[in-house]
Amino acid sequence: MADPKGFLNHGREVAKSRPVDVRLKDWNEVYVPGSLLPIISKQASRCMDCGIPFCHNGCPLGNLIPEWNDFAYREDWSAASERLHATNNFPEFTGRLCPAPCESACVLAINQPAVTIKNVEVSIIDKAWDSGDVEPQAPERLSGKTVAVIGSGPAGLAAAQQLTRAGHTVAVYERADRVGGLLRYGIPEFKMEKRHINRRIEQMRAEGTRFRTGIEIGRDLKATDLKKRYDAVVIAAGATTARDLPVPGRELNGIHQAMEYLPLANKVQEGDYVTPPISAEGKHVVVIGGGDTGADCVGTAHRQGAASVTQLEIMPRPGEDRAPHQPWPTFPMLYKVTSAHEEGGERVYSVSTTHFEGDEDGNVQWLHLSEVEFIDGKLTSKPGTERKIPAQLVTLAMGFTGTDRENGLVEQFGLELDERGNIARDADFQTNVPGVFVAGDAGRGQSLIVWAIAEGRSAARGCDRFLTGASELPAPIRPTDRSLMV
Ligand SMILES: Cc1cc2nc3c(=O)[nH]c(=O)nc-3n(C[C@H](O)[C@H](O)[C@H](O)COP(=O)(O)OP(=O)(O)OC[C@H]3O[C@@H](n4cnc5c(N)ncnc54)[C@H](O)[C@@H]3O)c2cc1C
Ligand code: SF4
Repeated sequence: MADPKGFLNHGREVAKSRPVDVRLKDWNEVYVPGSLLPIISKQASRCMDCGIPFCHNGCPLGNLIPEWNDFAYREDWSAASERLHATNNFPEFTGRLCPAPCESACVLAINQPAVTIKNVEVSIIDKAWDSGDVEPQAPERLSGKTVAVIGSGPAGLAAAQQLTRAGHTVAVYERADRVGGLLRYGIPEFKMEKRHINRRIEQMRAEGTRFRTGIEIGRDLKATDLKKRYDAVVIAAGATTARDLPVPGRELNGIHQAMEYLPLANKVQEGDYVTPPISAEGKHVVVIGGGDTGADCVGTAHRQGAASVTQLEIMPRPGEDRAPHQPWPTFPMLYKVTSAHEEGGERVYSVSTTHFEGDEDGNVQWLHLSEVEFIDGKLTSKPGTERKIPAQLVTLAMGFTGTDRENGLVEQFGLELDERGNIARDADFQTNVPGVFVAGDAGRGQSLIVWAIAEGRSAARGCDRFLTGASELPAPIRPTDRSLMV
């Protein structure tokens, strides 16, 4: 156990953010670099090393949280990093981006603020990189088997790293020009600087994983040809089909899916553009959708110099405390103030867009909405509440409906889908086609990075067993696991 009295002597203290007016001038991560290290050992000492550590159960990866809290408390960073990597290939991603269901499940959170598990995680891994502790782990011998991984998001990267380390020769196919999936082109730089992906890719290359970018399986290379070339395939193609808003005026210029808008801002940071082809500069911006993707649009629009930013959400505003039907240790739906929301803008709840209005050149100028309420369990417009708000750039951030069906990948492999439209798989993450596995959002539906990594690790085990008859790789989850999360 860390310090038996740690939780009595120290309150919860989290990473410090840079002042809003300073951080809006750049795209760097919002936190003050180095602000965690002076406080993190004390924060780790708050861990009670519970007999039943509910934090474990809250984490899809089964992270060994009390163990690395103890090492962080003792400042044995090398041991802490070893324990962290025992269950998670990419703690620098989850330590920055995870909504931390472990903290919702922390026993201390029953009557005190939870242990800052996510901050401890990111401190351990940043320290490990800085001290050269994160080294390539090339396999001692090769199996002679080959695997193609389709998609380089967190699920594909985790599967590829596990399979490479197990001795297979792995090639990752990615249709985008750079590796990383939504980590690279969805999540903005101010939430995670892309250098963190780049150094992991360097580690993976040094271990032997090969990357082939700019190739879309189904379109540029037939799925059937890929299958002939490799002994097994892991599909980690994400759930990239975005939900649309088919209301009058949707065709006007200036209305974009979030994933048309956000990647261009990230490409500016990569040096591909000087100014983004779609910019919020000087415009009244409306973001439709109150989730994380919407918040990323809010933060991006502010950095681009929007005249105003309004975020619309059809559901009522969540409460600030747990609702009775979401008791500890479940992951509750709470009102969240993300770093993007600290930076300004207005959030409007319980409203639905009725139509868009444009100018004579076909550019969107106004968004018409009405308030909605639940009547007999159905969201219904409130009469007399219609109004319009200025909207010169609109981004749609209303979620994703499943994996891409337009490139032919599903049909060419002959894959079955489940009742939710995701690629169906068995307990080993194998699809109906022998030797073809699926991991991440493509099989689970739109989810989280931590689930994608857990799926990638588990699918790698299924794939390894298919190739060799047995596997020593861990499988943290089953395809149907939902744990304490939605
Ligand atoms: C804007 C945004 C912000 C988010 N923020 C967070 C967050 O803060 N925290 C969090 O936990 N989760 C967040 N998420 C969700 C999280 O990013 C996803 O759950 C996660 O990335 C899924 O990983 P994946 O590997 O399954 O798929 P993806 O990351 O979507 O990667 C799939 C990859 O496959 C490639 N691909 C698809 N089809 C083909 C093909 N036929 N051939 C070759 N390549 C192909 C795609 O180009 C893509 O690179 C966010 C999502 C979005 C959209
Ligand atoms: S539940 Fe909280 S206090 Fe208990 S072991 Fe996990 S992190 Fe520590």
